[in-house]
Amino acid sequence: MKYDYLIVGAGFAGCVIAERIATQSGKSVMIIDRRNHIAGNAYDYYDDNGILVHKFGPHIFHTSSKKVWDYVSNFTEWIDYEHTVLAVIDDKKVPVPFNLNSLYSVFSKKVAAKYEALLLEKYGYGLKIPILKLLENNNPDLKTIAEYIYNNIFNGYTIKQWGLKPNELDFSVTSRVPVFISHDNRYFQDNYQGIPLKGYTELFRNLLNNRNIEITLNTDYKINSSSIKYNKLIYTGPIDEFFDYKFGKLPYRSLHFDFKSINREWFQEVSQVNYPNENEYTRITEFKHFHRQDSKMTTIAYEYPQEFVLGINEPYYPIQNDDNNELFKKYKVESEKLKNTYFVGRLADYKYYNMDQIVGVALMKYEKEIANNS
Ligand SMILES: Cc1cc2nc3c(=O)[nH]c(=O)nc-3n(C[C@H](O)[C@H](O)[C@H](O)COP(=O)(O)OP(=O)(O)OC[C@H]3O[C@@H](n4cnc5c(N)ncnc54)[C@H](O)[C@@H]3O)c2cc1C
Repeated sequence: MKYDYLIVGAGFAGCVIAERIATQSGKSVMIIDRRNHIAGNAYDYYDDNGILVHKFGPHIFHTSSKKVWDYVSNFTEWIDYEHTVLAVIDDKKVPVPFNLNSLYSVFSKKVAAKYEALLLEKYGYGLKIPILKLLENNNPDLKTIAEYIYNNIFNGYTIKQWGLKPNELDFSVTSRVPVFISHDNRYFQDNYQGIPLKGYTELFRNLLNNRNIEITLNTDYKINSSSIKYNKLIYTGPIDEFFDYKFGKLPYRSLHFDFKSINREWFQEVSQVNYPNENEYTRITEFKHFHRQDSKMTTIAYEYPQEFVLGINEPYYPIQNDDNNELFKKYKVESEKLKNTYFVGRLADYKYYNMDQIVGVALMKYEKEIANNS
């Protein structure tokens, strides 16, 4: 059979576009993925103890886009879940992103109240300030607060996470976790937040449940595509790989997850505890918090950042800085020369998209480019 579309990658990018093509354009789609499962990095599964775990690290759905929330809600119900994160600093557990409550966790009440008043006077309640901006302050007290946060939370975590110093990274990366002038301990302030009631993989099963869509797993585009007949290609894999690395490899950061089953009911207070300074891991996730599962056992994952090595581990985070963005542009120019071939997704766009962002990008790609051309 000849398919109207071949889609490479069964993550959010590929599956949202597949759903649109199948239901809105009525065309046939073959999705391939080289992994043995659908759902890309959002994949979750029940482990041996019946705990629903996220194979590629904790995934929390959050968005301020009603369009994205309404779209995804067609395929799942939600558990009301708002993410809160603690960081271990000098044996204390402190809310992050660092906020006004965090001040009271690390300083005496008197000092914290003084710093709180200063921050409120300078920035007003509710503002989010990237730490590198806060550091530019001339006021000695504000500088002390900024240096405390930078040295105790930001610097160590960034070096572990990226293998780079904060000033070697794009501002878009270093500003992702700002200082929050607020008593709101939630990690995200988006209007819509949740975890799919039956998990992400089930959400993807619903997305792909259409007779116009076929899925083949354990299938690599580079190795197998010549045996598949199709008219148009949608590619969500790494763009440098598509072009056989002809301009060089795009750098990524990778991760190693060490899962442990523990014979006790709960391990930690919240789903995510960060370790900015001590230990080689950056965070520990306890998955039971997401679905509030009733079990005498619990499962946790230690997360160790690593250098990405082709063929050895997975490309998780694009390392965005000027040099790498320039290299990406060369591939982008090449991709624009191809007819009937669309590039979309975290790996194809070399962008650190959250799930809601890639859903939005995929919907837009379908509406603006694919629908008119199918
Ligand atoms: C540790 C971690 C935590 C995260 N937490 C959150 C979170 O809490 N909230 C949030 O909103 N976002 C989070 N994200 C981001 C989220 O994972 C991405 O936004 C989302 O997965 C992007 O979807 P995608 O389809 O572009 O890419 P992917 O999910 O990576 O899917 C791409 C798929 O393409 C396949 N593929 C690639 N090349 C080929 C090939 N040659 N042949 C066949 N198949 C191929 C891959 O196997 C993969 O399955 C997190 C990411 C990571 C790494």
